[in-house]
Amino acid sequence: MNFEFSDGQKEIRRAVAALCARFGNEYWRSCDERNAYPDEFVKTMTEAGWLSALIPQEYGGAGLGMLDASLILEEVNRSGGNAVACHAQMYTMAAILKHGSVEQKQRYLPRIASGELRLQSFGVTEPDAGSETPKIKTFARLEGDNYIINGQKIFTSRYQHSDMLLLLARTTPFDQVKKKTDGLSLFLVNIKESGSAIKAVPIATMVNHGTNQLFIDNLVLPREALVGEEGKGFFCLLSSLNAERILVASESIGDGRWFVDYATQYANQRRVFDRPIGMNQGVQFPIAKAHVAVEAADLMRLKAAALFDAGLPCGAEANMAKYLATEAAWEAGEAAMVTLGGYGFTKEYHVERKWREARLYRTAPIANNLVLSYVAEHLLGLPRSY
Ligand SMILES: Cc1cc2nc3c(=O)[nH]c(=O)nc-3n(C[C@H](O)[C@H](O)[C@H](O)COP(=O)(O)OP(=O)(O)OC[C@H]3O[C@@H](n4cnc5c(N)ncnc54)[C@H](O)[C@@H]3O)c2cc1C
Repeated sequence: MNFEFSDGQKEIRRAVAALCARFGNEYWRSCDERNAYPDEFVKTMTEAGWLSALIPQEYGGAGLGMLDASLILEEVNRSGGNAVACHAQMYTMAAILKHGSVEQKQRYLPRIASGELRLQSFGVTEPDAGSETPKIKTFARLEGDNYIINGQKIFTSRYQHSDMLLLLARTTPFDQVKKKTDGLSLFLVNIKESGSAIKAVPIATMVNHGTNQLFIDNLVLPREALVGEEGKGFFCLLSSLNAERILVASESIGDGRWFVDYATQYANQRRVFDRPIGMNQGVQFPIAKAHVAVEAADLMRLKAAALFDAGLPCGAEANMAKYLATEAAWEAGEAAMVTLGGYGFTKEYHVERKWREARLYRTAPIANNLVLSYVAEHLLGLPRSY
């Protein structure tokens, strides 16, 4: 077992950290306050080639692996930034690479790699289905050579900042399938070509996330927009869901490290009762516990990413890494809040923004209750609760 990063991985960390240093806490605070998409940051990351990390070199990408990609996103969040603005392009890639047609790859991947197209939007969640994805109602009906899609999505993020949308729809009604995950299909939608068939209504949230409700009215897609086999969309989605869990875990590890560093520095400097507050174990221990939790979560993230890169099953590890890292980041956020006292609530100190951002990942892209349910039922063999 080797816990050393390669020289290439060390260089990825160094280079991404250097790029992120140009976009400090003030940049991210300003985007958050204006609810603005961090356009300049995303452009810079794209031009530097980091967002095409997972696109194979033959299509103009960097041809890196999941572990490399996870380090890139970790560094973004570790710097005080928020990789949410650009992470979808990495996790959606897994489904396209594994299940997309040669024609889809040739048509889109070089343009995504060059930054001409953005694939940053992923439409799965629906108001009536929630965490129960098989119950989605958005329906794609095949008519001649076209699919006609109607339905509704909720919390579809970055729609206004993306050229492409990866969309999950039913192609066989729920009550006509043997297995509830059958009969779902995945589509690659060119947003501009969809014209007025998709209406996006922004949802105001406590995070700068650009999320939307989508109303889909007779969206016409050619057969070629289907990713993988019709009816097997859930299976195609799984590779992207594992990628998403690993990448989100990495962002949370970055958040956790940012909180621990920030709290440590503040606890060393802030003096009350004529001594640094960091001398009090009531302040030290929450920071130390959070550090332990973040480091442990990192090990599971590394294992999940290594399995993913080896093409081995990694669902268990990806889910556990997502759980451990998001809980560790939350613990670290709480420790930072305790350490900063009243200043934690002020925008000037940035902790409250990172705290809101870190909280999201306990709920999205999958609620941690559902991860525990997966572990209990699929890994431990406990009776199914649903
Ligand atoms: C800011 C933001 C951005 C998002 N971006 C996207 C996106 O880009 N694309 C996309 O498709 N989705 C996106 N989502 C949706 C997100 O993935 C869902 O909110 C999440 O999966 C939970 O679904 P839900 O909100 O419908 O909660 P529900 O399914 O209604 O669950 C509510 C609560 O009940 C709990 N619960 C439900 N069932 C069980 C059970 N059986 N056992 C135990 N607990 C249970 C859950 O853990 C949760 O805490 C986003 C959400 C947010 C808030």
